[in-house]
Amino acid sequence: MPCRPNLPDRAALALVLRRLFIGIVAAIFIAWMPATLHAQNPVADPLAASAYRMAGDATRMRVVIEFDREPSLKWFLLRAPHRLVIDLPATAFGFDAKALDPRGLVTEVRYGNLGDGRSRIILASDGPFAVEKLAVRKNEDGAGHRMMLDLVAASERQFEQAMADLARANGSTIAPDKRDRLITAQRDADRKFTIVLDPGHGGIDGGAEGVRGTAEKDLTLSFCQELHAALEKTGRYRVFMTRTEDVFLRLDERVRIARQHEADLFISVHADSIRYRNIRGATVYTFSEQASDEIARAAVIRENLADSLAGIENPEKSQQVTDILVDLVRRETLGFSVSFARALVDRLDETIEMIKNPHRSGAYRVLRAPDVPSVLVELGYLSNPKDEAQLLDVDWRKRAVGSLIEAIASYAAMVGGARG
Ligand SMILES: [Zn+2]
Repeated sequence: MPCRPNLPDRAALALVLRRLFIGIVAAIFIAWMPATLHAQNPVADPLAASAYRMAGDATRMRVVIEFDREPSLKWFLLRAPHRLVIDLPATAFGFDAKALDPRGLVTEVRYGNLGDGRSRIILASDGPFAVEKLAVRKNEDGAGHRMMLDLVAASERQFEQAMADLARANGSTIAPDKRDRLITAQRDADRKFTIVLDPGHGGIDGGAEGVRGTAEKDLTLSFCQELHAALEKTGRYRVFMTRTEDVFLRLDERVRIARQHEADLFISVHADSIRYRNIRGATVYTFSEQASDEIARAAVIRENLADSLAGIENPEKSQQVTDILVDLVRRETLGFSVSFARALVDRLDETIEMIKNPHRSGAYRVLRAPDVPSVLVELGYLSNPKDEAQLLDVDWRKRAVGSLIEAIASYAAMVGGARG
């Protein structure tokens, strides 16, 4: 792996971890390409698939299917729409129709018999995904086996790559070389630094409201549009927005958009409100399980409320990733998020009013992408009349945009070197 000699150790480690992460999905494909699984005698005694369960959100789903014995299965991917196809020997399905209701990444579940002693289950999604894990395990109580499947939101390019790899593997009994797959799964070296801007709230979720009646959702959208235009003007970045109009977007959908674009940086923009009217100034937040302080704790509750407003329950805790490599990547990503947050605080501090201790942290759901450095910027407090007036001031916004651009440039230069 080419490594620049002047890299700090931490950056070199980050590079290795990032490549490992890209490789995890590819490696799992190899491990679970079940070329060695052979069809049972299906006609006499069909396999019984007794239960189907799934849980998760738009960024990550776990699917579990119960079988009366070890199923021999094969799977592949189809596009338009993005689908995962699981082929089984003749199977008697006993699924509860309710359990198949669309949820998170999975927009449709279909199954049936193809005749010829073959059956099939198809999971469809409205966007690209990666099969992070597909495994068959013996149930601990000895009764039957279960198939466990983890799907994660991915980019179009990653989906295409997985399809190509599967097609190659199907045509051969020899698994493709792991090293080769790690290399081909990488991003283009000359791809531009990619930023996803996330205007907070939208649609039925108006966010905070200013003393003069300014809606947070409108302010965040116009600020992001101005930042978007300024970033485009530099010609140095690919820039996307999670929303470009007044529409409601769930928090996990925002994270999913960042993953679909393989973003190098995700910036969620907000303008908070607080009981204490004299508190004012901008804050930059990064993710932490525990809130850094009382103000952060209250802000997290307000910002995470968006999904409840739309009647969406909290996603299950079981969706937390336990894979040690993913965990390492997550930690490394957080390191990058913190680096950017510090750069941003430094720049904003020169041009606009900041709160005391302007870098804070909390368990924001919109900052949960394991591999996309993410920050949430509260531009100011709509509950403070001075802040509200500034947020509506064109010159003030120009200065804030200028600081963001400078912070992004210095951060992109830093990680550009680290990526090698
Ligand atoms: Zn907000």
